[in-house]
Amino acid sequence: MRVFNTLSRQKEEFCPQGETVTIYVCGVTVYDDCHIGHAMSYLIFDAFRRYLEFRGHKVKHVQNFTDIDDKIINRARKLGIPALDLADKYIAEYFKDMDALNIKRAHVYPRATEEIPRIIEIVQGLTARGYAYASEGSVYFRVRKFSTYGKLSHQSLDDMVSRGPSEEGKKEDPLDFALWKAAKSGEPSWPSPWGEGRPGWHIECSAMALKYLGESLDVHGGGRDLIFPHHENELTQSESFTGVAPFVRYWLHNGLLQMDENKMSKSLGNLVTVKQALQRYSADGIRLFVLGSHYRSPLTYSEETLQASETGMERLRQATKELKGTGGAVVLDDEPFRQRFIESMDDDFNTGQAIAVLFELARSINRAREEGSDVTRARNTLVELAGVLGFTLELPARLPVEAESLLRILVSVRSQLRQAKQWQLADKVRDQLAEAGIALEDTAEGTEWKTSRESRLGSGGA
Ligand code: ZN
Repeated sequence: MRVFNTLSRQKEEFCPQGETVTIYVCGVTVYDDCHIGHAMSYLIFDAFRRYLEFRGHKVKHVQNFTDIDDKIINRARKLGIPALDLADKYIAEYFKDMDALNIKRAHVYPRATEEIPRIIEIVQGLTARGYAYASEGSVYFRVRKFSTYGKLSHQSLDDMVSRGPSEEGKKEDPLDFALWKAAKSGEPSWPSPWGEGRPGWHIECSAMALKYLGESLDVHGGGRDLIFPHHENELTQSESFTGVAPFVRYWLHNGLLQMDENKMSKSLGNLVTVKQALQRYSADGIRLFVLGSHYRSPLTYSEETLQASETGMERLRQATKELKGTGGAVVLDDEPFRQRFIESMDDDFNTGQAIAVLFELARSINRAREEGSDVTRARNTLVELAGVLGFTLELPARLPVEAESLLRILVSVRSQLRQAKQWQLADKVRDQLAEAGIALEDTAEGTEWKTSRESRLGSGGA
């Protein structure tokens, strides 16, 4: 098996160190709902993990939550709630979204705020070794002390520009980055040898990776946008602290999701949340959209491509249906398909090619069925290999008839409340339904509803 390593910019033979492949994937900063760009990265690493498990590896997967950060503090302040409450809420939302996308849970989900002692220990260690210095209650990493800084993002110090926040006065060098930030008034903070403060973003991932996976990990994953400065700094801190290189044997980075030519991001205001996407498409359809192209290439969000993925999933589902009377004398040979699937995935997780093999197998199954051949084994293989990529092949869930009747009654009651101008009660009904995963939308024709797993719209209570 070969994987493309960002560090060497080459495909390398994948040789994990032990029986268990250790994987660290950078998690989300929990201040809002996940968008489909986040989902893209987690779907890709989910497929990698499933494939490693299919190939007989044990996997230990650690993924953090950044639960203290400027974005969290600012949003919580706007909402008038404690920052950690906001983080809790969006951690719960993260699990809802990712479970709905059939993404396997990591084995450990460390949170920055629960790892403060370990973070402080590492910052102290770096200071003792001369890699870091305190300044006005903050601690910075002395970048020029680490001679190979820039090796992951392939930049030299000379042409590197500092993209850090403007704290130039406090730093010895503009390239230096914060390991520990002095507390500003009104912000959450923790006691430390340098006074009250909070950890920088990069150091939390070093602390968690080292704590849960050891000094040298097999795989570190994330989106391309994390290569610099986040992963460059993570590598620098970790290798400086432990004296062990490499900190990571294989750095894997996925291309980013774009809207037209722009990255999908909150600051650009062009987000599609996972919840919105799941109201329109099935989890399998979204997964096919993401895994259908190469993980290292950028992917452009488009409703047309997602529709096509949905249609594609339906073709796979049809081919895996169990039909009676298909036990002919001629047996469809599935082995060549299995081999080509493995070859594709062994070549740097070429999921696009692996999926093309699944579609060829589906076509062969359909043809062989028409010819009266036995497709039982081939069908099972199709289900198995689709499962290796995380496809459920299940139809999107529909509400049971009884639930639908009850929902119709609730929507009608809410309409009557609105007509009686009982807005508060009406909104309460809507909010509680939303909490239960049912979104109401008032239109000229009446109220429509959709569940997070249902692509179809229901309506009533005009
Ligand atoms: Zn990280």
